This record gives sequence, C-alpha cells and structure tokens, in this order.
Amino acid sequence: VVGASVAGVNAVDGLREAGFDGEVLLVGAENHRPYDRPPLSKQLLAGQWDSEQVRLRPVSHYADLGIELRLGVSATALDLATRTLRTGGGEVFQFDGIVIATGARPRVPRFVRPLEGVHLLRTLDDAWELSSALLHRPNVIIVGAGFIGSEVAATARGLGCDVTVLEALASPMAQAVGPVVGERLGRLHAENGVSLLCNASVAGLVGDTAVQAVQLEDGARIPADVVVVGTGVSAATEWLESSGLTLSDGVVCDELCRAAFDVYAAGDTARWTLPSGSTVRVEHWTNATEQGRHAARNLAASMRGDEQTAYDPTPYFWSDQYLCKIQMLGWPSPEVEILALAESRIAVLYSREQHLCGALTLSAPRLLAALRPLVSRRAPLADARRVVVGSPARSAVVA
Ligand SMILES: Cc1cc2nc3c(=O)[nH]c(=O)nc-3n(C[C@H](O)[C@H](O)[C@H](O)COP(=O)(O)OP(=O)(O)OC[C@H]3O[C@@H](n4cnc5c(N)ncnc54)[C@H](O)[C@@H]3O)c2cc1C
Repeated sequence: VVGASVAGVNAVDGLREAGFDGEVLLVGAENHRPYDRPPLSKQLLAGQWDSEQVRLRPVSHYADLGIELRLGVSATALDLATRTLRTGGGEVFQFDGIVIATGARPRVPRFVRPLEGVHLLRTLDDAWELSSALLHRPNVIIVGAGFIGSEVAATARGLGCDVTVLEALASPMAQAVGPVVGERLGRLHAENGVSLLCNASVAGLVGDTAVQAVQLEDGARIPADVVVVGTGVSAATEWLESSGLTLSDGVVCDELCRAAFDVYAAGDTARWTLPSGSTVRVEHWTNATEQGRHAARNLAASMRGDEQTAYDPTPYFWSDQYLCKIQMLGWPSPEVEILALAESRIAVLYSREQHLCGALTLSAPRLLAALRPLVSRRAPLADARRVVVGSPARSAVVA
C-alpha cells in the first residue's frame, strides 16, 4: 500500500478485515506516523490539539495487524511487468497486489515565490509552521476561498487576526456547493469580520525576503504579514508516469477501483468510474476512508478469485467554519432550493428532474442524517421537503 494516510491506513485495515494474511507493507513519504488532516486547519491550527491527537491509529496498531510500516520512504516508480515498486532510497519491492493511495498535493500558482510569511497547508509540518506564524496575530491574506482557505480564515479570525480572503470566482466554495449556496456561505465570513473579495485576481506577491502585500490585477495592493495559498490540489501521480497506468487528473480506475490487474487506487488520488460511465475524483475524508477499505476488499477478493463489488458511494463531506458545521451528501446540481431553519440554520436540497441528488445543511446534523436515505435512493424532491418541514427545526422556503 503506497501512501500512509487516510486511504492507505484504511486499505491495510481493509486487507486484514477481508482475511488477507500475507505480508503487507505500508509505505509513506512523510516522516510522521499516519495522521489525520481535517484537524490541521481547525483544532491543531487553533492551538487546541497537539500531534498526538491527530494520530490516525495507536502506535501499536500496525504491529498488532502485522503491517510493516515504512515511513520517510517515497515510491518513485511502479513496474507492472515485473510487479515491482521502486523507492527513492533505491529499494525494490516485489508485490502481488498494490493499493495506490498517494493522495494530493497543493497546486502552487505562478505568482507564489519563496518569501517568508507565505504558507501552504497540506501536511502536519505546514500546519505547525502556520500555527506559529498566527501566534503573533498577523494581518492574514488567504488566496482561495475553497475548503482550506475558508477554514483557515475562520481559525485565524478566531485567534484574533485581521483576515482578508481573495477568491477568483464569484463566491466561496462554489465548486463544491454551487454558486447559490456559495454566496450564502460567503456571508458567514462577513458576519464574522473577515473581508471577502470575490472575482479577485492576484498579480503577485510584494516583498524582498518577507511578504509585505498581495498585488491584485486591478492595481489594488493589500498589506499582509502572512499569506496562505489555498488554491486547490492535484493528484500526486508523478511517480506513476512511466508505469503505463492511465493517468488523467488522478489514477483512472474502473468501478471496482481497479487501475490494472491487482492494482487498485483509493482516496484523493483515485479517479474511478461511476455506474453512469463518467469518472470522478473526490477530495474528502470520508471517501478516502471508504474507498481505501473498498479497494482493499476488492484486491483481497481478486487474489482469492472471489467476486468484487462496484464502488458507488453517496459522497459526504463536512467543513467547520466559525461556529457552523457545513455538511453535504451526494452531488450538487444547478437546481437548488434553500430552506431556512430556526436559529439561522439552513438546509439545501439539490435536485435533478424533481429528484433529490444532494443535500447540504448548516449546523443541522440530525436533519442531514434524516435526509441520507432520501439522497441515496434519489427520492422525489417533495418527500425531501416533507422531511425538512417535519424536522424539529421547522422551515420556510427562502430561495
Ligand atoms: C487542512 C485540511 C483540512 C481538511 N479538512 C477536511 C474536512 O473537514 N472534511 C473533509 O471531508 N475532508 C477534509 N480534508 C480532506 C481530507 O483530509 C483528504 O481528503 C484526505 O486526507 C485524503 O486522504 P488520502 O489518504 O487519499 O491522501 P492524503 O491525505 O493526501 O495522503 C497521501 C499520503 O501519501 C503520501 N505520498 C504521496 N506521494 C507518495 C509517494 N510517491 N510515495 C509514498 N508516499 C507518498 C503523502 O505524503 C501523504 O502522506 C482536509 C484536508 C486538509 C489538507
């Protein structure tokens, strides 16, 4: 299993759960024991949690399962003909089956230069660096109002920093939740004292050794002590370029999460095939967890000669911003209905041809749980409305 994070750890667990009792090697490029990323922009960044609390499994877990864990080891090439994996240290490992779980890396826009005060946030080391930079309550500019940018804005604001968020699109998180809901989520920033500039295009960073400001294309110059670049990620597949696997913004897999015979991919790096025939890559924790286990079960089944099953989940993500928990199930669509609940909570129903394809709630977790079966079976929109209206939160349509 290559990549020792959420998908990789769930893959090794999945192999053992599926009864695979052969040798299992888990290889990870980072020197830290496998840890969880969601707290990096939340509790750890806020100084509430330490490194122990973000650990994915207890230290003894890998030995208990008979897993050989090799940390600080980067896979550099995969040879399907000889069934070998090569590492940066020159080691060559023979394998019968493999799960690729190398995740994603931040996309770094051209304007980024190696100036003091400029941060990315993907790893535990990134989080520690940013967390100590925020201690002095700097002026913070966040480039990109996706998940990471929005969460860092909320945490930095909570620590008393002055925060400006620059977003190239017309609203925050639009790619994940659509523009209408994105606009609603944008209000959260304003309500919490964060200045959000949408349709903003960054021309460059100002400063010689340390960043001093961000220069916009329209000529505006915004002073900054700390700049956090959160402009999305891309699948970490460079090491597979000579492998012969199909790579297209991710490792392309069939509906079984299989990229080639007994070669599977899972998590942020996998682009798998849906029953509709289209392919999708999902960058959320729950998918990495479920797909890691699913891919491993299918690999174990294949090695036993048993039947494998298609991976067809109902996607789910959450994001914590200010005091709100944003949760979403399913897929967004242009047909959106926002229902206002009590105490500024909302429920959003996404539909296609009057059937539910997704649902989002703001600080209403029980309601989202009640909507889950309806999203899974693409229930009529009217049924979903009834669930929302009948919920203790009581609702009225606002948009
Ligand atoms: C700050 C932050 C906050 C987040 N918050 C949320 C949230 O609130 N809700 C949510 O749903 N999702 C959240 N996510 C997303 C979620 O954490 C990811 O979807 C999840 O980590 C993906 O897991 P993965 O195992 O597929 O990949 P990754 O977590 O990216 O792990 C891949 C691992 O593979 C290693 N690797 C890469 N290349 C190689 C190689 N060649 N050889 C060996 N090892 C390699 C990497 O070093 C890394 O450790 C957040 C992500 C971040 C960064």
